Amino acid sequence: MYKDPFLTASNSIKNHYIEDWQKDNKKIVGHYCTYIPEELLYAANLLPFRIRATGHEDTDLGDIYMVRFTCSFVRATLDMALRGFYDFLDGLFICNSCDHSRRMFELFDLKVFKREGFNKKVPRFYIAIPHIVTKEGFEWYKREIEELKEEIEKNYNNKKITDEDLLNSINIYNKNRSLLREIHKLRIQDAPKITGTEALQISMANSSVPKDIANQELERILNLLKEIEGLKTDAKRVMLVGSEVDDINFTKLIENSGANIVSDFLCFGIRNFLDDVKLEDGKNPLEMISRRHYYRISCPRMMDDHQRRLDFIKDEIKRAKIDGVILQRINNCDLAGCDNMLFSHELKDLEIPVLNIDREFFQADTTRLQTRIEAFIEMIS
Ligand code: SF4
Repeated sequence: MYKDPFLTASNSIKNHYIEDWQKDNKKIVGHYCTYIPEELLYAANLLPFRIRATGHEDTDLGDIYMVRFTCSFVRATLDMALRGFYDFLDGLFICNSCDHSRRMFELFDLKVFKREGFNKKVPRFYIAIPHIVTKEGFEWYKREIEELKEEIEKNYNNKKITDEDLLNSINIYNKNRSLLREIHKLRIQDAPKITGTEALQISMANSSVPKDIANQELERILNLLKEIEGLKTDAKRVMLVGSEVDDINFTKLIENSGANIVSDFLCFGIRNFLDDVKLEDGKNPLEMISRRHYYRISCPRMMDDHQRRLDFIKDEIKRAKIDGVILQRINNCDLAGCDNMLFSHELKDLEIPVLNIDREFFQADTTRLQTRIEAFIEMIS
């Protein structure tokens, strides 16, 4: 599967799908976090591109502007941007998902878009999102998204984003999620049809390609998977939970240690496609989009919502017949750090084998990490 042309779009930052999009003189905008409602950007005829650092092994330039006890994933993306990898962006959308990625709002402006030789005006947008899930919090988030819509209309040709544009975008994104859920069902079955590494590639490619084209590709892949045999393997079935993962070298490290990552709870993983935008009569489409993004299964940034995340993980462990859970955290990622610490106790109380690891986004020497993972896989055998 991993040589499939759609999956290979995940191996690099730019890909031929977005080059075609650019040929039509259309705009591409970058963001870090799934609390940015892509349906609104797409309705404005902008291509949302999820910023990642796939395959990047350097942070030297990024470290000039961010101290090393910050998230190495964020520093790697900044390093790439300073080297021109993200010069194709025509806009940047940042929210306070965590304190590390939030800093990109200033640093991209001051250091990336104002660097020598870069002569494009790139609008930036900031959305402040509450860290708790409450009725008042939703009213705040909804207002932020309403203001964001006005800002987008002002910055991109004063083109009004109509309810029809929004409804069309909602349908495309709901279709996209339902296709990803169908593929996930084939991943968690007894004889999985794809590996965790391939699932990550699909998710990353999906976040870097226009959604209507992605839907055609996902439909093709789904039909293909329905035809092929499942993996005949006695590999241990693990669930991967925690910080951002956009590097298949890390998932391969786990899957070369005698495991198959049949499920996950990652922001480049299943968390993205569990919830659709619910279409309700009498509600305006923008409110429906905001409701989906605010109330969906949350990420650790939502401090008061840990129990709902734990309940989901417990159910998924049963659904996917998980043998063990790997909790991983990029050093200094306080959000995953808090959640993983709680999960490790709660899952152990349920006698579910747990491995808790800290890592850097890119690790030159993975020997110790591989040894720990192999020992864990052996232990759950
Ligand atoms: S991995 Fe953690 S610290 Fe890094 S961007 Fe994600 S939430 Fe923030």
